Amino acid sequence: MPFTAFPPMLGKGSPIAVPLQTVGLLSALIFLISCLFEVLVINGLYEGQHVLVSLLLLSLSIWAIVEVQLVINKSLQLPTRALRIGLVAQVLVVLVRGFADLGGSAHSVSESGLLGAPRFGFALMFLPVYLALFMLISRLIIKAFSYSEFLRANQLQLQMVALEQARKALQLSEERYRLIAEWVEDVIWTVDGRGCYSYLSPSMEKLTGCNPEAFLHQPLAACFVADSALKLEQFFMESRAREEAGLPVQPFRGELELVRRDRSSLWCEVTMTGLYNPQWQPMGYVGVMRDISERKIYEVELREARDAAESANLALLSANAVLHGQATTDPLTGVSNRRHFEQVIEVQASESGRFGEGLSLVIIDIDEFKSINDHFGHQIGDLVLVSLVRLLRAQLRKSHLLARWGGDEFVVLLPHASAEAARQLAEQLRLAISVHVFPARIRLTASFGVAELQAQESVETLFARVDTVLYAAKAAGRNLVKLSE
Ligand code: GH3
Ligand code: MG
Repeated sequence: MPFTAFPPMLGKGSPIAVPLQTVGLLSALIFLISCLFEVLVINGLYEGQHVLVSLLLLSLSIWAIVEVQLVINKSLQLPTRALRIGLVAQVLVVLVRGFADLGGSAHSVSESGLLGAPRFGFALMFLPVYLALFMLISRLIIKAFSYSEFLRANQLQLQMVALEQARKALQLSEERYRLIAEWVEDVIWTVDGRGCYSYLSPSMEKLTGCNPEAFLHQPLAACFVADSALKLEQFFMESRAREEAGLPVQPFRGELELVRRDRSSLWCEVTMTGLYNPQWQPMGYVGVMRDISERKIYEVELREARDAAESANLALLSANAVLHGQATTDPLTGVSNRRHFEQVIEVQASESGRFGEGLSLVIIDIDEFKSINDHFGHQIGDLVLVSLVRLLRAQLRKSHLLARWGGDEFVVLLPHASAEAARQLAEQLRLAISVHVFPARIRLTASFGVAELQAQESVETLFARVDTVLYAAKAAGRNLVKLSE
């Protein structure tokens, strides 16, 4: 027998379950009470108002039958039939008692107790009243019960809808994360508190050539070369210490070398951090690994290119310096060449004109140098030139600029120097040369022309003047200093 059935609809709600067993049991109980009552009456153990009690029990039985018929479906044939038989038996008992009551002598008030026993015909009128009363009460009870069931069912239904929605959302999110983990190029993993893999995304196979399943429960560090494994071990050690101290794990970021199936290695960028449950208890670690071998190759190439560029730059700088030196110095003596001297004197001349300071020029020409070459040879002549430059430098200050003007001719530029100061310096130089012993024990002299730049005078004119006095010195017998007035 089913425990529940569907009673008539209550409003627009869902079908409500009613415990029909209760109704069936109640009916059976009434029938039993009726039987017990009849036994009591027949055996003379009850002498009260048995007609009314019989009618009461009969109406209870009728009510039970009607209620059962109303709410129980047709499959419940057995108890319904039993109840019907009981009902017929009760009707018969009541009828027999009624006829006996009609045929027998009437009970007097004194015999029938305080209230007296009503006549059967009169008592029969209570039957519909009892019935109506029972029906009303049972209808009210069923309605109240059904309504509370309706509310509970509605609530349950809402809870079920919410649960279903949550389940679908969870399934969707799980599916999404699974797809991400499976399709993403990077390797995603989770490791337990001991640092052993608990999950590995399929892309691990692409990186290592091994099935990710093979790594499960293996230590994470075992997949990396010794140096990288050491870094990971250190991370786990530090993380455990932090967890024991109740501190959050510091994320790991680094470049590690992964071992492949063919024992070759692969550079990977690894990021790893602590994994926590909603109560913030440590659950292990979650990590992401990305192949950066191409980037590493580029980095090496870039470093090499940068080194090459740097060394090329250095070579260029030194070549530039050499070129600059070559462009500005005399290769034999190492002093400034004519070109450089001309550039400097132009600048100095314009500055001296601006600030009104003196600028003097001395020209030196070795006397009869040609004969030295002729006598000792060109190489010794070169050595004499170098030796002369060394001697002149020793006599000059840093502010003086010495240059080889050409052949055996040298010039000295004296900033902030008057004509007289320049003449004195030229005299000093002339004397030094004349007493100096040059290579191959050569002794020589030189002639000097001196001039100071005049206001508004051009460099060309200055050179012309200084040349003039030099020729004058030569003409006057050499080994002389001549000043241009
Ligand atoms: P002076 O000046 O007294 O009139 O007579 P000089 O013999 O010195 O005549 P001049 O100044 O005109 O000749 C310069 C000589 O210097 C000519 C050349 O043989 C020599 N000479 C020029 N350049 C070099 C050089 O680089 N090396 C050597 N060894 N000799 C040079
Ligand atoms: Mg000369």
